[in-house]
Amino acid sequence: MSFHPNYSFKTIGVIHSCYTQKFGIPRQPGLVNEATATLELLPPFNRVDVIEGLEDFSHIWIQFIFHECIKENWKAKVRPPRLGGKQKVGIFSSRATHRPNPLGLSVVKLGRIYQKDKQIFIELHGSDLLDGTPIVDIKPYLPYADIVQDAKGGFAPSPPKLNKVTFSPLANKQCKAYLNETGRNAATLISEILSQDPRPSYLHDKENKQYGIQLWDINIRWQAKPGHFKVLYVEKVK
Ligand code: SAM
Repeated sequence: MSFHPNYSFKTIGVIHSCYTQKFGIPRQPGLVNEATATLELLPPFNRVDVIEGLEDFSHIWIQFIFHECIKENWKAKVRPPRLGGKQKVGIFSSRATHRPNPLGLSVVKLGRIYQKDKQIFIELHGSDLLDGTPIVDIKPYLPYADIVQDAKGGFAPSPPKLNKVTFSPLANKQCKAYLNETGRNAATLISEILSQDPRPSYLHDKENKQYGIQLWDINIRWQAKPGHFKVLYVEKVK
């Protein structure tokens, strides 16, 4: 048996996403449907022939680099949020970001494919990727092979429990103004993100603590209240 010990990959595209920072990004794709991202193909891959036929699929797999983790070391054991941050599992039994090879894998809903200024853009729905994420491969999702009926989900056997989210009158007004100005439905996006509880496990019992999340060009201030999360205000980044 002979193989090369190291391989390198080409970046075929880059993600433009509503998630401009890591805090708040859902832990898997398909959990926040309002999240839209656009994959821009980069030269020499920005050519129509490489994606010919892709529009016939509803979903695609994308493989990407956890580029914001590259400077940090990988860990042999990690504490998955689904285990309350208390128990450890092996890195290869988890979907954690700090891996020996910082490769991510997400299945996303395929949106419009279009060309602008000689560039090719592919719209993705429900992604869990940070703005600027480098993409190394795209593959069509094949239901006959990729759906596994009797699969077991280990420490995450079912979708995460959803939390209630409310908005202050001020935050409601600001979301409406932002929708009118940009066409972006910040209220739905924020609701879906917060309902997943983005807080690290060690802060779960800290009631009334305030948090900030940045999406696109807006800062969202919210508070963990007993039984729900309250959005306090939504402001443009200065
Ligand atoms: N679905 C992918 C997988 O299983 O490989 C990613 C799962 S990982 C647990 C999801 C988290 O990765 C997000 O919550 C976000 O914090 C982080 N993330 C997303 N894009 C990233 C990037 N480019 N660099 C570093 N971390 C990133």
